[in-house]
Amino acid sequence: MRCPICYTDEQNNNSICDCGYSFNEKEIQDWDRAKNFLALIPKSEWFRKVEIENNINNVQIKKHGQRHTNLNIGWSIRETGRRLGLSDGKIAEDLQLAEALKNNPELKKIKDITKAKNDLRESKRNLKTNDKGSVFTEEYQLHRYLFDHWDRLSFFDEWEINGAKYNMGKFKTNEVWEIDILAKHKQEPKWLVVELKNEQSSDVTIGQISRYMGWIKRNKAKKDEEVEGLIISHDINLEILYALYCNSKIRLCTYNVEDDVLKLSERKLESELLLNHLKKLSIDELDELKESLKKLEVNSNNL
Ligand SMILES: [Zn+2]
Repeated sequence: MRCPICYTDEQNNNSICDCGYSFNEKEIQDWDRAKNFLALIPKSEWFRKVEIENNINNVQIKKHGQRHTNLNIGWSIRETGRRLGLSDGKIAEDLQLAEALKNNPELKKIKDITKAKNDLRESKRNLKTNDKGSVFTEEYQLHRYLFDHWDRLSFFDEWEINGAKYNMGKFKTNEVWEIDILAKHKQEPKWLVVELKNEQSSDVTIGQISRYMGWIKRNKAKKDEEVEGLIISHDINLEILYALYCNSKIRLCTYNVEDDVLKLSERKLESELLLNHLKKLSIDELDELKESLKKLEVNSNNL
């Protein structure tokens, strides 16, 4: 069996792991051993240390249940900290960092834990909230995120960055303009021009991206190669939906950030326009619509 805390295999005749975990009791039994184990991890491997602290906390909570404030039962982060000789603040910060590492493994490249914690705080400051969720404060941060996470975003599975790697995938045309991200399809003869708008995209964005797509088609793509466009923004408006209606080569995608993870969702024009239309209905009209939908549902269930 593998230790759920330090991931080493269980040794023969040794029911307590080097990290203090008891394979029989399924929790930490030797806290001194746990402390020593953590102390032996080199400073440069801080990410391993916070990960183990997090594993310990999860194992203890699994065994004892979450602490209830009013009852004297269960386990808490504070308890983990107390047993490991860490202050409430320190253990909370460490565990936050461990959680953030799951989504941002590149944090491991940072040599120093203090700097990693600062970077994490910084990335939280890079977000502001509007009525539709979390949005980056600067377009640069959206760009940086997409570039850093490109290989892990399923949306881009088929696409490889072709623009300058030292410049977040940007592509400079020799006619002043700069494309945010230029990518090429991994199998098919296709190019992708990505245009980023941190907050809201509008029909002006279509003009801009069409210009870039035209430039690539004329100057970079081979004869049989297609050029597609992708607009990524946080919000969209009615103008852009109609402007795209006859532009099937440009796709529209919105982003939202939840718990430090960016989510991309492609907007289907037809349903967006329908939704927009629904918003204009009066309450009576909406009620009427609900009734007809119910009937429709009943009918389809009876089929
Ligand atoms: Zn272990």
